[in-house]
Amino acid sequence: MFPPFTLRYARFPDRLRAPARPAPVERPELVAFNRPLAESLGFDLDAFDPERAAELFSGNVLPEGAEPVALAYAGHQFGNFVPQLGDGRAVLLGEVTDRAGRVRDLQLKGSGRTPFSRGGDGRAPLGPVLREYLVSEAMHALGVPTTRALAAVTTGETVYRRVPEPGAVLTRVAASHLRVGTFQYVAARDDQEAVRLLADEAIERHYPHLAERDEGERYLGLLEATVERQAELVARWMGLGFIHGVMNTDNAAISGETIDYGPCAFMDAYDPRTVFSSIDERGRYAFVNQPPIAQWNLARFAETLLALIDEDRERAIERATEVLKTFEERFEASRLRVMRAKLGLETVEEGDAALIADWLASMQAARADFTLSFRRLADALEGPEGEARLAELFGDREALDAWLSRWRERLSREEADTAELARRLRGVNPAVIPRNHRVAEAIAAAENDDFAPFEALLAAITRPFEAPNGEVDYTRPPRDDEKVLRTFCGT
Ligand code: AMP
Ligand code: MG
Ligand code: MG
Repeated sequence: MFPPFTLRYARFPDRLRAPARPAPVERPELVAFNRPLAESLGFDLDAFDPERAAELFSGNVLPEGAEPVALAYAGHQFGNFVPQLGDGRAVLLGEVTDRAGRVRDLQLKGSGRTPFSRGGDGRAPLGPVLREYLVSEAMHALGVPTTRALAAVTTGETVYRRVPEPGAVLTRVAASHLRVGTFQYVAARDDQEAVRLLADEAIERHYPHLAERDEGERYLGLLEATVERQAELVARWMGLGFIHGVMNTDNAAISGETIDYGPCAFMDAYDPRTVFSSIDERGRYAFVNQPPIAQWNLARFAETLLALIDEDRERAIERATEVLKTFEERFEASRLRVMRAKLGLETVEEGDAALIADWLASMQAARADFTLSFRRLADALEGPEGEARLAELFGDREALDAWLSRWRERLSREEADTAELARRLRGVNPAVIPRNHRVAEAIAAAENDDFAPFEALLAAITRPFEAPNGEVDYTRPPRDDEKVLRTFCGT
């Protein structure tokens, strides 16, 4: 069933990874399988058998040619450096080459203890597995670079967190699992040989155009390319009201993919200071802090590359700093591009930044729903009824009207009629996101063996730009009694 594995990471020096066999589970059952993704990865699904699949995606049976390893990494957690973290509840089976010729990691998450488990049990509860499945697939459907979810299996075992919970294993697909923390792990040990090996791997897999450059330029180029991808990534998050929740350096991927979905969530009411994660007591990873935190993480990455950038440390610092500083302008350029599109603008004008800022300010003042406010802009163009639907979200009709007339005036200079503008707007502003209360509902049902709400939600969020017309209204924000105020890592 599996495509052939390459074993790039498994062949890396011992000090970068440890062999780790998945621990067998009692009663594996396949509860989710991403067929289109499997097909794009080159899986052979002709004789697909869910029972066999459950054995493979639980780790009970190893796919042919896999050599599971747990990867070593370090990381700054909430600003504090931890020299050894590593895959404590995950194993990399190996890499496969997908139909488009791209190398992809296949990882089992929740597959038991590894040499990096420290005090942990190596297991994952069903809730966080389904949350990652839903949110990562939603991000993909929304066009945001992300790791993917290939399969989810329940284990038939209980894992103990705050309460007993059903256990599960997620199969995650990533462009790679190279993290800022992977580089920190070796740099903290002054293992320059390993820093170079990882940097070359990152270039080969993510930035192959850099391979032709001279030494110093190549590694400075790696930093610059990673800065560019992270700036773009966080701008995309900001355009969707997405809060990652744990932007530790071990959760920052060099590939520029969103990785490690823990207490992540999409905002309902717009407030830039929003924090969901129960462990983020000081709001370090609040919505509004995500760009500067990404830049901070990149600075930690830069530190690991200094010796490769220039033998002269002072010069290396100077050059890396120059590159790090570009984060701000790159982020701002990406943000403006994202936000212009969300307002239906394809042309560029001086006053756009102010138009965007004032729109966000009125949303914030009204605590208007982030997703619906953007979505209903298209309605507002189509006539008074649509405008009333938008106005429902805002208390102060006068302020909204003033902004709307500025916006309309600005739109008059786009070469597009109303129908075209509405089509543009509905193509970038989703109707459906995996709202917290729906995710919580789907998880609660699944914990009682009813996967129908999970499946229905998954179907809706994977077509985010279509207004759904099923029984459940997935576009609706939570009522007060449905609001989820805190999300948990589930670790
Ligand atoms: P995370 O919060 O998912 O970014 O994980 C931070 C660190 O804790 C990583 O090294 C994980 O491998 C480790 N970890 C999280 N949960 C567990 C668990 N249940 N058992 C072992 N290690 C874990
Ligand atoms: Mg992590
Ligand atoms: Mg995690």
